[in-house]
Amino acid sequence: MIAAASDWRARDLAVLWHPCTQMREHPDALPLFPVAHGEGAWLVGFDGRRVLDGVSSWWTNLHGHAEPRIADAIGRQARTLEQVILAGFSHAPAVELAERLLACAPQQAGRQPLAKVFYADNGSSGVEVALKMAFHWFHNRGDSRRTRFVTLANSYHGETLGALSVGDIPLYRRVYAPLLLDVLFAPSPDAFGSRDEAAAIACAERAADALSQLLDAHPGEVCAMILEPLVQCAGGMRMHHPRYLQRVRELCDRHGVLLIADEIAVGFGRTGTLFACEQAGIQPDLLCLSKGLTGGFLPLCAVLATQQVYDGFLDDSRERAFLHSHSYSGNPLACAAALASLDILHADDVIERNRGTAARMTALAAPFAQHPQVAEVRQAGMIVAIELHPEAGNAEDGHAVEIAGRRGLRMYRAALDHGVLLRPLGDVLYWMPPYCIDDAQLKVLAGATAAALEEASPCA
Ligand code: PMP
Repeated sequence: MIAAASDWRARDLAVLWHPCTQMREHPDALPLFPVAHGEGAWLVGFDGRRVLDGVSSWWTNLHGHAEPRIADAIGRQARTLEQVILAGFSHAPAVELAERLLACAPQQAGRQPLAKVFYADNGSSGVEVALKMAFHWFHNRGDSRRTRFVTLANSYHGETLGALSVGDIPLYRRVYAPLLLDVLFAPSPDAFGSRDEAAAIACAERAADALSQLLDAHPGEVCAMILEPLVQCAGGMRMHHPRYLQRVRELCDRHGVLLIADEIAVGFGRTGTLFACEQAGIQPDLLCLSKGLTGGFLPLCAVLATQQVYDGFLDDSRERAFLHSHSYSGNPLACAAALASLDILHADDVIERNRGTAARMTALAAPFAQHPQVAEVRQAGMIVAIELHPEAGNAEDGHAVEIAGRRGLRMYRAALDHGVLLRPLGDVLYWMPPYCIDDAQLKVLAGATAAALEEASPCA
């Protein structure tokens, strides 16, 4: 007999410690939703309740849950080779995936293309890889003074200590502050409140000027700058103009600083192009990809590096090699899933098809701009953000925190009651659905958002 949802809830709370959760909030304030199976954009509970995945399960899922082509690819790979050490040994999916990623990675005229792929097994680990590589590359050149990283205010790059050091969400960071690296924060180019493109460009220029001053003030100290191109996702889906990325590329070159693009959340079509960097016509020295890399099926991260970075580690000494390793680095199942996801992106012409979906999202989101509680509606490709006027005591120091405060909780529950998973980031409701979402499902998404906004009104 299949156990009921309530049984799973009880068994879960008896043994599990959930991520990003104050466990005290269970079971009353935050109802647990045990999922029996996934089906396209839907998550289906044990009681048959269907919930539309408006956040692509933490921004991982691209083509829908349980997508049969990816599931089949994983099954085939599992019966062939499930896992093998990637030091001294190799396998076809790791090689093929590296070839395919390098072929579609952002390129900039006059620059050496990204030429090598290093695998980690989740986003935070990939960020650690990029940070360590940048420092070690300068170290190998005899420049050990470059020990610092520049990052942006309101950024998020993961939860391990290095990744947390280059993040700026106080609730996640503050308690661990004594353990973290001493990084340099540059102002965010965030275009929030910009009336038009000229205003967004002005934000970008101002932030780039401030970055320029910061780099001038720390000559020879910085090994790399890390940023989330176009959208600071966990920071409340705050968006910036591509002009900022062009200025950053120039400034990094001028100061001899490596540029790390963290496209873990925005890669694989989220912002409308395969990679966000394309919209600025720039290429980073290190590119971190994860989440959608496997279509959202399995954990994997790819860190793409230029030949110049790679060459900096070639030597007779082992210490000059990049000795970083994870047991599941380049896992064959995850690589096979990623190859199948790339096939779907190509075969279904997903980026082109998303243009139509994104336009329908624009039309459905536009009326929310008139809501008295809404400060701004903004969009980058398949990401729509509906930002509310701040509620006193809601977000931490004005930074986004997932379903923070009572209003966030009310909105989360209201959306769930209307059959949609929405996880507000502080004052920001957002849509980041799987790309397979159809028109009828988009209307369900918009309807649940309207219901969530009703909960946002002060008298609700
Ligand atoms: N970078 C960015 C931009 C992210 O959004 C995230 C996850 N939300 C990470 C890094 C960390 O990835 P993971 O959760 O796989 O460690």
